[in-house]
Amino acid sequence: MTNFDSQDDFRSWGNVLKESHAVARPIWRDQLKSAILNGRQQGLSLLGAGLRRSYGDSGLNPAGGMIDMAGVDRIIAFDPEKRLLRAEAGISFDTLLKVIVRQGFFLPVTPGTRYVTLGGAVGNDVHGKNHHVNGPIGRWIRRLGLLRSNGEELELSTSENPELFAATIGGLGLTGLITWVELELITVESAMIDAENIPFENVDSFFALAKESEEYFDYTVSWIDCLAKGDALGRGIFSRGNHAKAGSRLPDLGNTRFTMPMNLPGLAMNRYSINAFNALYYWNGKRTAGPARIGLHPFFYPLDSIGRWNRLYGRGGMYQYQSVVPPSVQVEATRDMLRAISVSGQGSFLAVLKTFGAVTSPGMLSFPREGTTLALDFPNHGDDTLRLMRRLDAIVLEAGGRLYPAKDGRMSAEMFQQGYPAWQEFARHVDHGFSSHFWQRVSQR
Ligand SMILES: Cc1cc2nc3c(=O)[nH]c(=O)nc-3n(C[C@H](O)[C@H](O)[C@H](O)COP(=O)(O)OP(=O)(O)OC[C@H]3O[C@@H](n4cnc5c(N)ncnc54)[C@H](O)[C@@H]3O)c2cc1C
Repeated sequence: MTNFDSQDDFRSWGNVLKESHAVARPIWRDQLKSAILNGRQQGLSLLGAGLRRSYGDSGLNPAGGMIDMAGVDRIIAFDPEKRLLRAEAGISFDTLLKVIVRQGFFLPVTPGTRYVTLGGAVGNDVHGKNHHVNGPIGRWIRRLGLLRSNGEELELSTSENPELFAATIGGLGLTGLITWVELELITVESAMIDAENIPFENVDSFFALAKESEEYFDYTVSWIDCLAKGDALGRGIFSRGNHAKAGSRLPDLGNTRFTMPMNLPGLAMNRYSINAFNALYYWNGKRTAGPARIGLHPFFYPLDSIGRWNRLYGRGGMYQYQSVVPPSVQVEATRDMLRAISVSGQGSFLAVLKTFGAVTSPGMLSFPREGTTLALDFPNHGDDTLRLMRRLDAIVLEAGGRLYPAKDGRMSAEMFQQGYPAWQEFARHVDHGFSSHFWQRVSQR
């Protein structure tokens, strides 16, 4: 369990990258130190792993040692008065939700899948549909335990080792192994969401809806038909919602209906099927628009309804591309990116557009910043796809924006360093016993 005696191939969630790792699978917190010391004795550079929902190479450490934290997954303490929950880093949001929702609590921030761990969420400082209200999750982390490669155990918070705390939030697992996390929860009155879907015609109407909605809705996000052109450029479905004030506290029983048993043939993902999907999704969204009271799972985690949905992209896999650009240029930059995608004909099934608010987190390498984020899935068509993403890189760089490391497997060192000016300060806190494929790539001078 702590000896790195199994050698496994790990794929990125996008399925483009595959690397072999020696893996330790501890179960108990008191095994973590010996796992780290064993790995170092074997000369391995280390990396903590959660449920490996990062799309690119930030969770891969080729020829190194992976500490799989999914077995270290217990709740340690809960103070309902202070809304503070302390849990081991390997606990999943899925498990946490099963425990907290029926007691009237909810996660302050959740990404679009519940199959992430607390440690992984800290490692990427994840954001959700309520970024404009609650900021990234790092803002809600009160304390955490960190184990360094020399076996030193530290407690981090804004008052204790504050710089290392800031480096660890969004620190991509490079400052050490997160062993436990103390998270502040929010209260909810039910397990339901009052949601509303509104079709919109183009980029301008998206920004108008976002502005209007942010004042009254805690959660906002949009799906975009990224193959639409001309006056319809950027048309989509705007989704907004609040926790319902009444209704059952019992969460719905999850929404996973079907699990992809294998990779789909790559041919299934071509410009015709993507075009047809986008048009159908848009017209269906128009037909079913309006308010509805729905459960947490369909609102927050629609993608979890198909287990291992990443296999839909076939053996070649897919790239995710998530950018954020600042408010002053967000309208033009979003238009430019959508135009470039539409012209290329390489659409995305899942094109998500959202405005981020000004609420920040302590994380030095935290991705979210005020502005607009666009997230896209591109089936991997080799050079054509890479060329399109380089075109998008140029738009993002010119706009003064940046890309999300959790979604990336190919950005240049220059792109990373320009987007994250604090990276050199961050590098001073990296534990040299830890590494990742991502870090080796982007920290080159
Ligand atoms: C369908 C889907 C929807 C998503 N939606 C969003 C979204 O809306 N917002 C968003 O922000 N992200 C989103 N993501 C990305 C996902 O939330 C992040 O990649 C998240 O960090 C994954 O958690 P994980 O437990 O799988 O971590 P992993 O992917 O295993 O690891 C993430 C990082 O944290 C490090 N790490 C993990 N555990 C530890 C530990 N115990 N100690 C130290 N370092 C550790 C890893 O080394 C890695 O660098 C989505 C992903 C998917 C698949």
